[in-house]
Amino acid sequence: MSIQVPEVHLIAGTRPEAIKLAPVARAMRSAGRLAPVLVASGQHPSMVHQALAAFDQVPEVTLSVDRETGSQSELLTELIRHLDALFAERQPAAVVVQGDTTTTLAGAMAAFWRRIPVVHLEAGLRSGDLASPFPEEGNRRLVGQLAALHLAPTSLAAANLLGEHVPASSIIITGNTVVDAALEVAGRAEPFDDAAIAASVDDAASGHRLVLVTAHRRESWGDPLENILAAVRQLVARHPDIRVVLPSHPNPAVRAQVDAGLRGVPRTTVTGPLPYAQLTRVLSRSCLTLTDSGGVQEEAPSFGVPALVLREVTERVESLSAGCAKLVGTDTARIVAEATALLDDEAARLAMASAGNPYGDGLAATRTEQAVASLLGLAPPAEPMPVLDSVHGPEMSLTACGSVA
Ligand code: UDP
Repeated sequence: MSIQVPEVHLIAGTRPEAIKLAPVARAMRSAGRLAPVLVASGQHPSMVHQALAAFDQVPEVTLSVDRETGSQSELLTELIRHLDALFAERQPAAVVVQGDTTTTLAGAMAAFWRRIPVVHLEAGLRSGDLASPFPEEGNRRLVGQLAALHLAPTSLAAANLLGEHVPASSIIITGNTVVDAALEVAGRAEPFDDAAIAASVDDAASGHRLVLVTAHRRESWGDPLENILAAVRQLVARHPDIRVVLPSHPNPAVRAQVDAGLRGVPRTTVTGPLPYAQLTRVLSRSCLTLTDSGGVQEEAPSFGVPALVLREVTERVESLSAGCAKLVGTDTARIVAEATALLDDEAARLAMASAGNPYGDGLAATRTEQAVASLLGLAPPAEPMPVLDSVHGPEMSLTACGSVA
């Protein structure tokens, strides 16, 4: 008689969700006691497919949602309709949602209504302000009310959940699976599709310094992005040895603004979204990143790359207190001053670079697999991640700028 392995659906709507779920799918497959089904919800299916390709994975199910108005409520209702039909047909034993997107909320609600236990990966992040980031802060708080199992990346995230009266028995500190993801693909030395980026990375090996800039958040579009582009122009002018790589958001209006702002600026390469393995390779070779991305903020310390965070608030405060990131906002003069302080003072840069990664030790996916198996009565409880003072990627050696392998 064959033993039925329970199906667990992992729902990914956007690129960061796919990146953070991929290590979990892999851990489930290799442990063999759960059958992971990666579902592209239909929110940004091409980004999900591109992100999973970096891990040699493809979604088993790709849903296609109809969008006419582009509103949040239209997206949410469409996602719920399709996910509900999927859950009705396949009857998963548990549904894993990640983070705080519209897909996260839709997946949690659709599963909850069908009495399927909801597992929230990257649970407990809070800015404390419902208006920022919007709508993510609301989404993650709502999912926090519905989840049966809360996988907190850090002890601070767990404390946030306890503060909202989430039972301690349903919370486990796993670390963030983005660290597992970044370490998995970084070792691959993926070739670059864009010759200009390959040249920038090669230059970094010959003494030039690479700076990765990303500005993907909706809240950065418009004037803040204009300020960030002005800062890039000034930094390139001030520091003749730096090379800037800026993968732009694919939105045509954003791309046009980036192209217009950086046209003709020397030693600066603008591209569309980079495949994850290539992005990670650029990041690992950079001496500094200027970013508004939560994911990049979590990945950078694994490669000893200081992050200047281009936002007014961040819910990822652990990297600020650990010293590997600094919140600098989007004022041009402030960005230039903070970046210059690190580019001109290698000791200051190395102090940030060697702060370690508070987001994980690369074992978050294994803990997640065990926690879900335990929820379903298939394994003893998972051991939480030990308290991290300083965790470095296994192959990281910090010597000088741009020399991290
Ligand atoms: N990323 C990528 N290619 C890019 C830019 C970012 O693969 O061109 C990855 C990045 O390493 C991180 C994630 O996408 O893991 C971040 O996505 P985004 O900035 O869209 O979202 P956030 O992290 O702010 O949720």
